[in-house]
Amino acid sequence: MNKGEDRFKKIIAHCKEYGFIFPSSEIYDGLSAVYDYGQNGAELKNNIKDYWWKSMVQYHDNIVGLDSAIFMHPTVWKASGHVDAFNDPLIDNKDSKKRYRADVLIEDHIAKLEEKINKEVQKAAKRFGDTFDEKMFRETNPRVQANLQKILDINARFVPAMENGHLDDLKALIDELEISCPVSGSRNWTDVRQFNLMFSSQMGSASDGASLVYLRPETAQGIFVNYLNVQKTGRKKLPFGIAQIGKAFRNEIVARQFIFRMREFEQMEMQYFIKPGLEKEWFEYWKEERMRWHLALGIPGEMFRIHDHDKLAHYANAAVDIEFEFPFGFKEIEGIHSRTDFDLGAHQKFSGKKLQYFDPDSNESYTPYVVETSIGLDRMFLAVVSFAFTEEKLEDGSERVVMNIPPALAPVKIAVLPLVKKDGLPEKGRELFDRLKYEFMCQYEDKDAIGRRYRRQDAIGTPYCITVDHQTLEDNTVTIRERDSMLQERIPAENVSKVVSSRISLRPA
Ligand code: ATP
Repeated sequence: MNKGEDRFKKIIAHCKEYGFIFPSSEIYDGLSAVYDYGQNGAELKNNIKDYWWKSMVQYHDNIVGLDSAIFMHPTVWKASGHVDAFNDPLIDNKDSKKRYRADVLIEDHIAKLEEKINKEVQKAAKRFGDTFDEKMFRETNPRVQANLQKILDINARFVPAMENGHLDDLKALIDELEISCPVSGSRNWTDVRQFNLMFSSQMGSASDGASLVYLRPETAQGIFVNYLNVQKTGRKKLPFGIAQIGKAFRNEIVARQFIFRMREFEQMEMQYFIKPGLEKEWFEYWKEERMRWHLALGIPGEMFRIHDHDKLAHYANAAVDIEFEFPFGFKEIEGIHSRTDFDLGAHQKFSGKKLQYFDPDSNESYTPYVVETSIGLDRMFLAVVSFAFTEEKLEDGSERVVMNIPPALAPVKIAVLPLVKKDGLPEKGRELFDRLKYEFMCQYEDKDAIGRRYRRQDAIGTPYCITVDHQTLEDNTVTIRERDSMLQERIPAENVSKVVSSRISLRPA
């Protein structure tokens, strides 16, 4: 097992042991790629939602929220292209009987070539030290050039094959690149087939003419079909945005990697309606704004990278992914897409209703363009816990597991801990807890030795432990222990709220 896999396994085990994430229906042996969030997971998830909602809706006076239904008229999905084009190319290995996405097999092959290039660059950087000119090296080193050429050659066939749904070409590429099954090691593949990712069901009873409905595969369409409702009732002028958080469902072919790829998940999407022609500007704006949002949490910048799309979805004219370095490598956490008037245009065509904007400045009507930001809430959750999970060796030789969750997102902000369970300390602790609980998610704990209680709070990422001791009874001061440094200071009990608020705030200084 490599280091990343080992770490990932530990994170999954930790999430279960400390009430962050449980497999769904576990007493029935679980349901593949479906998970439940436990007592600490639900808090962390709510805090991520709250951070996103506030940054989008509360801090932008031209963005409003929406909560649209999961079920929608089936024609919505015809218009959006999902009925015809929301497919993944599927391939089976005949020996291992494992199923894969053909495009992912090819992308992984490209990633390996990129990895080779990066290793070459790192080696050279070490060798040449300060005088190293990376750009020049990339342009002239024969091994780097050869691998770059291989990537270009693959993409020259891969991108059109994906765009035009040429499944035979994908199969031919897999054969020619000698891609083998990671499980059986064999290259004994079936043909590539298309597989639609939408879940469907029947609405109404068969006797009254049941109709086909889909579980939405993205929240965005609920926003598009409400564009005019919100614009008219909110008297919005362009540019303005509509933001929504909600469940989405995809019958993923390969659902592995814990909550990274689920069949039921949650998205936080924002559609920004703009005047046509301004899409490049707004695309750049949202790219930067969204990176700022991630970095404001204090997660190091090296853990993020921007990946430009080589192949564009059917609705987009520009797209980037923000990728995060998960324990299993850099993978998409958020997409930013310039969707032009594809969706509003399609809904106008299929519904026969006008979805236009009358521009009072230019006295003309047009269909707005859209730039969207779309982040998976569960992937963001996984990014936070993968960053946060830390095994530390302490100076006294002992070990601790601490979740360095950004304090603003931590499930519990303050633990109130009486040093001992006697001498009136529990009463004093309860009194403090009862005051703080209206402002912060707090826990009160008086069982076990104080050291063990600190460790339990570290393991769920509580940024501050307040200890009530005998001196508290005399002068009403308490100790405040900071999770990461484990440093303790004495402060007046009445200052706890002020001190903690200022330290967990994400408000720009
Ligand atoms: P991928 O290429 O990983 O399948 P995607 O490009 O299909 O993702 P989008 O359709 O752009 O994803 O969806 C926007 C966001 O929703 C993604 O950036 C991701 O964070 C999240 N997301 C998509 N599919 C899943 C899933 N099956 N489980 C969890 N989150 C998901």
